[in-house]
Amino acid sequence: MERDLQTVHRFAKALLSQHGLHGWSVFWAHSIESTDLGGVTLAHIDRIVFSATHMAMMTPAERRGAVRHEVAHAIAGVAAEHSDGWKEVVVGLGGSAEDSKLVNPLLYPWFGLCPDDHGFVSVRPPGPNGFLCEDESHDAPVPLKVWRRNPKSRAFDPGVARITDSYPEPKSIPTFEVGARVKVIPFGSVKYDNVSLTITGITERDYLARHDQTDETIVIHFDGVTNAEDPA
Ligand SMILES: [Zn+2]
Ligand SMILES: [Zn+2]
Repeated sequence: MERDLQTVHRFAKALLSQHGLHGWSVFWAHSIESTDLGGVTLAHIDRIVFSATHMAMMTPAERRGAVRHEVAHAIAGVAAEHSDGWKEVVVGLGGSAEDSKLVNPLLYPWFGLCPDDHGFVSVRPPGPNGFLCEDESHDAPVPLKVWRRNPKSRAFDPGVARITDSYPEPKSIPTFEVGARVKVIPFGSVKYDNVSLTITGITERDYLARHDQTDETIVIHFDGVTNAEDPA
């Protein structure tokens, strides 16, 4: 497994440098908090972070698809999101915009059903309150009554810890507190450059923030915002 993940790492680095993105780095985390993604591309710090647990559960073809997906974000610009421009880049890299990054639930280390029959998966063990279903149809998170641990999941392979030890994501530290007013450092986004936000929460690498004009909730990396009073 470790060798397979090292191959994924080299493939990502090679694609980036073939496209002139020499300043970009690739790191590995156990998982990307609060998402079910194989990876994430961070505009403000020119960084791709892969979820080692999700990559471990994928087939080799799915892993290459996940790499092309993220590298295409880096080439097209993260602000392009999943636009037609981004799709063209993915296809140019030999991939497909439809390449799904979703993994079969039965391959996860933990899976179950909520009382309303929503499927649930996790790459992290249950917390003190067990697992919670956060499907948007619930007013508040609902505890799962039925779940099991799958000891055969490839997410438990020792290669997962080894790749995250080989390329650990440098720790980012939040410089603002909940309630602070900030603005988005421009990254080429018509929609989000310089918009004012109020921070409402802090996670592992991101702020949760409220868009001052639209009330929309935004997830943005610690390094993606600056003091609201700073000159543009
Ligand atoms: Zn994407
Ligand atoms: Zn549910």
